[in-house]
Amino acid sequence: MKEVLKIAIQKSGRLNEKSLGLLKECGIKINNGGKLMSSSSNFPLEVFYLRDDDIPQYVAEGVADIGILGENEVLEKDQDVEIINRLDFSKCRLSLAIRREESYSDLNWFSGKKIATSYPTILKDFLEKNSIDAEVETISGSVEIAPGIGLADGIFDIVSTGSTLLANGLKEVEVVMKSEAVLITNSKLSLTKKNLLGKLLFRIQAAKGANQNKYILLNAPNKNLDAIIDLLPGMRSPTVLPLAEKGWSSIHSVISEDDFWEVIDQLKDKGAEGILVCPIEKMIV
Ligand code: ATP
Ligand code: ZN
Repeated sequence: MKEVLKIAIQKSGRLNEKSLGLLKECGIKINNGGKLMSSSSNFPLEVFYLRDDDIPQYVAEGVADIGILGENEVLEKDQDVEIINRLDFSKCRLSLAIRREESYSDLNWFSGKKIATSYPTILKDFLEKNSIDAEVETISGSVEIAPGIGLADGIFDIVSTGSTLLANGLKEVEVVMKSEAVLITNSKLSLTKKNLLGKLLFRIQAAKGANQNKYILLNAPNKNLDAIIDLLPGMRSPTVLPLAEKGWSSIHSVISEDDFWEVIDQLKDKGAEGILVCPIEKMIV
């Protein structure tokens, strides 16, 4: 039987759509299969839909070859899996928070206190490393209400914008870890599966590159060409084409999403006109 790569993704929740989106950006078509599993019509891949909490164990045991989940869940479950790629989505942080009216000095505030969390492994590890002796109360959901109902003095939970903390009268006092979606695997892959994973990683890289970059076209006076080229290094170097109008050129290049607004301002300062910025479908460097 032909070997296929088995990937575990979240069944429903914050990571489901983005995980499927990533596979789509990799050109992988997923058939509308069953609730538990579906396969691809154009890549040797089977997709398993699981709770994110179960993904590390399934991958560690080799039921799935790879998985997509939050780095926080990987650390919390502490299974024998390896993070092989960071995926740039579902970014959040895990933080300690306390009641807004409390005055906070430093981590010692938590000594002898009770902290509610759904991430006891990460929290205990952090407390131990910092020699803080606090009691960890493990609860599975709605951690943010624990201080308000007297269940704990503080919480350790996922924060993205901080609005949930605010709504519950809490303030963030320590960021313990930053997290994003990651791709994990085990050390049991056959050579065939390793090759398939290599192909998938190549496509993921191309999709990530495309998401992180834009294609930019602009017109510039020739006298400022050098200055503009310095601002737009491109993949090797920008393309420069003469315009029909004398003394002007069209410049094409690739620009990082992160640098985008800052560079645009500088380009305008150097006389750039007619700037077009387009999305990139795939980028292979
Ligand atoms: P499941 O039913 O699969 O157990 P869950 O309730 O544990 O799902 P979700 O709330 O869907 O998990 O979150 C999945 C992951 O998304 C988290 O482990 C974390 O990495 C990330 N995440 C959680 N909350 C946020 C947020 N507010 N912003 C960004 N990423 C987040
Ligand atoms: Zn979960």
